[in-house]
Amino acid sequence: MAKLDSKIPKGPLADKWTNYKAYQNLVNPANKRKIDVIVIGTGLAGGAAAASLGELGFNVKVFCIQDSPRRAHSIAAQGGINAAKNYPNDGDSVYRLFYDTVKGGDYRSREANVYRLAEVSNNIIDQCVAQGVPFAREYGGLLDNRSFGGALVSRTFYARGQTGQQLLLGAYSALSKEINKGSVKLYTRREMMDIVMVDGRARGVIVRNIVSGKLEKHAAHAVLLATGGYGNVFFLSTNAMNSNGSAAWRAYKRGAFFANPCFVQIHPTCIPVHGDFQSKLTLMSESLRNDGRIWVPAKKEDAEKIRKGELKPTQIAEEDRDYYLERRYPAFGNLAPRDISSRAAKERCDAGFGVGNTGLAVYLDFADAINRLGKNVIEARYGNLFQMYEKIVDENPYETPMMIYPAIHYTMGGLWVDYELQSTIPGLFVGGEANFSDHGANRLGASALMQGLSDGYFVLPYTMQNYLADQINVPHFKTDLPEFEQTEKEVQERIDKLLSIKGEKTVDSIHKKLGLIMWDFVGMARTKENLEKAIKEIIELRKEFWKNVKVPGSKDGMNTELEKAIRLADYLELGELMAKDALERNESCGGHFREEFQTEDGEAMRNDKDYSFVSAWEYAGGDNKSKLHKEALKFEFIEVKTRNYKTA
Ligand SMILES: Cc1cc2nc3c(=O)[nH]c(=O)nc-3n(C[C@H](O)[C@H](O)[C@H](O)COP(=O)(O)OP(=O)(O)OC[C@H]3O[C@@H](n4cnc5c(N)ncnc54)[C@H](O)[C@@H]3O)c2cc1C
Repeated sequence: MAKLDSKIPKGPLADKWTNYKAYQNLVNPANKRKIDVIVIGTGLAGGAAAASLGELGFNVKVFCIQDSPRRAHSIAAQGGINAAKNYPNDGDSVYRLFYDTVKGGDYRSREANVYRLAEVSNNIIDQCVAQGVPFAREYGGLLDNRSFGGALVSRTFYARGQTGQQLLLGAYSALSKEINKGSVKLYTRREMMDIVMVDGRARGVIVRNIVSGKLEKHAAHAVLLATGGYGNVFFLSTNAMNSNGSAAWRAYKRGAFFANPCFVQIHPTCIPVHGDFQSKLTLMSESLRNDGRIWVPAKKEDAEKIRKGELKPTQIAEEDRDYYLERRYPAFGNLAPRDISSRAAKERCDAGFGVGNTGLAVYLDFADAINRLGKNVIEARYGNLFQMYEKIVDENPYETPMMIYPAIHYTMGGLWVDYELQSTIPGLFVGGEANFSDHGANRLGASALMQGLSDGYFVLPYTMQNYLADQINVPHFKTDLPEFEQTEKEVQERIDKLLSIKGEKTVDSIHKKLGLIMWDFVGMARTKENLEKAIKEIIELRKEFWKNVKVPGSKDGMNTELEKAIRLADYLELGELMAKDALERNESCGGHFREEFQTEDGEAMRNDKDYSFVSAWEYAGGDNKSKLHKEALKFEFIEVKTRNYKTA
């Protein structure tokens, strides 16, 4: 337990971060040049951190899987980024953003971290505007805002449906400047395979050059992981195909605790699954819920006719439609948070009111908004999303409602970090979606970009410096230490083992099976019985993988099947920990819904007395053994209540 010191600074909530910065240790410019930092990941969190650390004067090496930092998964983010600027003058404030985020996360996040996030949110917008990020503007030239779920104000800054892309281009330009200056060295097409520990601290990494297949050793005074989320455990998700949980899992196996692994986000507005051969799901941004209304037929017989293709949604009269979010949550309506909206969709579909040929879809309808505002306005706001929908589904969403269904989207869980974003391994920091983050049991829309950039531009450059200040007398690390040799050897053995199995099952076929187990038993609705079943089935599947997987090709040169197999080996362990964590948490909160713990009208029932903690799992060796530690959550500045989105 002693290991779990969250290092929350003392003092009033609003002063904690200012005080931290005032008293932290700094490294003078001449000494910064003597210090090496490794950053894994070039998404918004890693790209922003590497650029900022380079600008401060540290020697930075940054690594990514893609052929360019610009292709990190962050580029996919569509809808927007939150900040408490209160430009629309609709009552927003730093406190309100903090409050909404803690409430949205169902009171399972750390107050001090969330307050800091809300506090620096405004700096992010200034920073990005200075970089030239083309945020949408109103007619008068001021930055425009739209609304996202779980808030009664409009605080989301956006660049059409390409906010992540534009923000990433901003971070990339800052990074490129440092690469050009020589303070940052970029390594693309590299996959981190393990962390190298020297005397109990993170001192380097082993990476695989995925083009040549060669292993490389890199040393540094500190390592930052900004490697994104692990949603692809579920096989089908809205994440990029290269998103994976391996870097975090490797760190876990070296001693970093894994926090709240069962907290995953299921996004309500994705294009429904359409077949067995699909390998990816597509998100329709939450921003669409600003103007789109969600409904299903109010009569089962209408839903059935729609499923059979005998009736079209446009033929259903207004009074025969059930706008179930507006009905159940009048105050927030179609902008109810994601966990609640997803469960409400599932409830309607399970009750027989779902549409589409599978019955696993609901409508997102823009007819009202088009009548009220005109097609041009809707096109200007969401044109690229509508085009994307039409390309995939072959239906025109200006004329007929979109069909959507919940899908795996984001992982609130991740490596446990303290207030400084340092893991339980000294010298190993974690930023962005890879850490267990500020979102508790459910993330509000447009808050991931905010957190990634907050970590990268405004938190890590300070907190890592605080750690590095006592490293100035430690000379540059060399990779000829025995620890590097040993770790590289272990990585090589793992790769050789995978290639030697030469079984009959493809990597994808096993991953699909894992995905189904996860979706059915560790997905939107969980029960004790099903979680136990999931653990059993995952253990069996893991055995099958190590006995019968077929990884063609060799370790030399490019081998995408090998890359996938390496990641799947980790998912087969992480999936089990997720189920174990869900089984351990005998309550419903946010995205973690245990059917045994719900109110009469199907809302999540938290148990604050016994479960107001962050679960932090320590690897305990062997075949996925683990030990649970608990970080108690204290709420001093917010009153803990049952979440309510029915009234304001
Ligand atoms: C479709 C979609 C839309 C979204 N829209 C929004 C939105 O509108 N607003 C919002 O706030 N959030 C949104 N999100 C969530 C948000 O995009 C992500 O949470 C966020 O971008 C994650 O950023 P990151 O920097 O933490 O990681 P990522 O962007 O995932 O970057 C991870 C980086 O790590 C590298 N990496 C990973 N593993 C390794 C390894 N082993 N070795 C070397 N490198 C590695 C990758 O190459 C990459 O460079 C959306 C998510 C999706 C899926």
